[in-house]
Amino acid sequence: MKIHAIGGYSEVGKNMTALEVGEDVILFDSGLFLPAIVGVTEREREPTEKGMRDLGALPDDLYVEKHGLRNKVRALLVSHAHLDHVGGVPYNSYRYNADVVGTSFTMEVLKVLMEDSKQKIKNRIVSVHPNGVYTARGKKNYKVEFVNMTHSTIQSALIAVHTPEGIVLYANDYKLDNSPVFGDKPNYKRLKELAAIGVKALIVDCLYAPDDRKTPSEKIARGLLEDVLFTTDNHNSGIVITTFSSHIARLKSIVEFGRRLNREIIFLGRSLNKYVTAAKRVGQAPFINNVRLFTYRKQLEKVLNKVNKEKKKYLVVCTGHQGEPGSILDRISRNQLPLRLDKNDHIIFSSKTIPTPINEENKDQLEKRLKKHQVRIFDNVHVSGHGGREDLRDLIKLTRPEHVIPSHGDLKKLMAGLHLAEEMGYVANKTVHLMHNGKVITI
Ligand SMILES: [Zn+2]
Repeated sequence: MKIHAIGGYSEVGKNMTALEVGEDVILFDSGLFLPAIVGVTEREREPTEKGMRDLGALPDDLYVEKHGLRNKVRALLVSHAHLDHVGGVPYNSYRYNADVVGTSFTMEVLKVLMEDSKQKIKNRIVSVHPNGVYTARGKKNYKVEFVNMTHSTIQSALIAVHTPEGIVLYANDYKLDNSPVFGDKPNYKRLKELAAIGVKALIVDCLYAPDDRKTPSEKIARGLLEDVLFTTDNHNSGIVITTFSSHIARLKSIVEFGRRLNREIIFLGRSLNKYVTAAKRVGQAPFINNVRLFTYRKQLEKVLNKVNKEKKKYLVVCTGHQGEPGSILDRISRNQLPLRLDKNDHIIFSSKTIPTPINEENKDQLEKRLKKHQVRIFDNVHVSGHGGREDLRDLIKLTRPEHVIPSHGDLKKLMAGLHLAEEMGYVANKTVHLMHNGKVITI
C-alpha cells in the first residue's frame, strides 16, 4: 500500500491523507487551513474552490489528479466535525465520484455548513453511528470502522480501514479521556481487538507530541469552569463566556452551571448556532431547551438591550474566544453591539488561544479593549482536546502498529512523534516515517 500525505503534514490544519491499495484510493479528511481565513468575513470570502485555493485554505488535493489517482477514489472518510478536517469537503469533494462518510453529528455539521453558505455537493453523504461500519466499494471491498474516540467535539472517530495487507488506523484527532462529560469513553475494547487483527499503519495526531504530559480529562475543564463560576463574587455582575462552538460537552457544562446560578442562558453568534443546530438534529444537544439562540443583528440588539437592564439575571455565551474580527465578543468590545460592559463584569475564556501570530495579535487587542471597561478576565479556563506525549505512547502501545506515521503538525511536532516512536523501538524510515505535504511512502 501507499500512503500519500496531502495536507496537515507541513502545518497545523488542512488535513488530508490518501491511502492507495491496488486499484483503490480512500481519502481521509478534507480540512481547511484556518489561519488563512481568520478575519476574512463571510461576505468577503469568495465561497468558490478557486477563491479558497488562492487563500491557501484548502489541502493541495490537485496532487490526487496529478498522480492519476482521481478515478480510483472510492470514499472520502471524515474523522470529526472540526473545520480543519471537514471544512474542505464542500469545495473539493465534487472531484471524486465517491461517498462522503462520517458519524451522524459530523455529517450533520457538514450539511449545516453547506446550508449556511448555500453550497451543494453531488456526493452521497453517508452517516454512521459512532462505532458503526461502512463498506467502501472499489476493485475490492474495504470494511471501514468509525471507532469511538474522545476529543473536543462529539462523535469523533478513529477510522479503521481493513485492507488485505492489514488495518490502516487514522487517528486524527484524539485524546484519551476516561471521564468525558458527554458521550462515551474511547472504545479501548475495539482498539485492542484491531491490534490483535493487525494494524499495518497508524496515522496519528502529533499536535501536542512535544509536550511531556497526559492531557487532562474534560472533567477537569468542567471543574475549572465551576471553580470560576461558583467561587468568585459574581452575584451582581454580568457574565460573558466564550468557547469553541463545536465543543458540545463544554456547552453542556456551561448551561448546567448557568441554571444553577439561576441565570437565563443566551447563545449569541452564527457559528454557535450552526453547531448547536447540528447537535440538536442528531439528538445530541440535551441542553437545547434551556438556551435561546440569537444570530441576526436585530435579534442581537433586542436581547442585549434587555440584558443591559438586569445583567445579573443572564449568562451570555458567545463567539470570539480567539478575538476573531466580526465575532460577537469582538463587536461587543468595539461597542458595535449594545451590551454595556461595566467594572467587575466577568469575561470567561473557556478556551486557549491557538498559537498563530494572527490569533495572538487579535486576542491581545481584544483584551486591551475589554480591559478599558475594567472587567475581570478569566483566561484559559480550558483543557485541550489533543493527547500529549504520554497519550501518544499509550495509543501506540494499545494499537501496536507495524508502522507509525506522525501527522497533524509542522516539522517540530512530527519530529516529536518520531522521537517517541524511536524510543519505543521503531526505526526512522523503516517503521516510523517523517512525512511532509506531497510525500508518499510505500509500506
Ligand atoms: Zn479536531
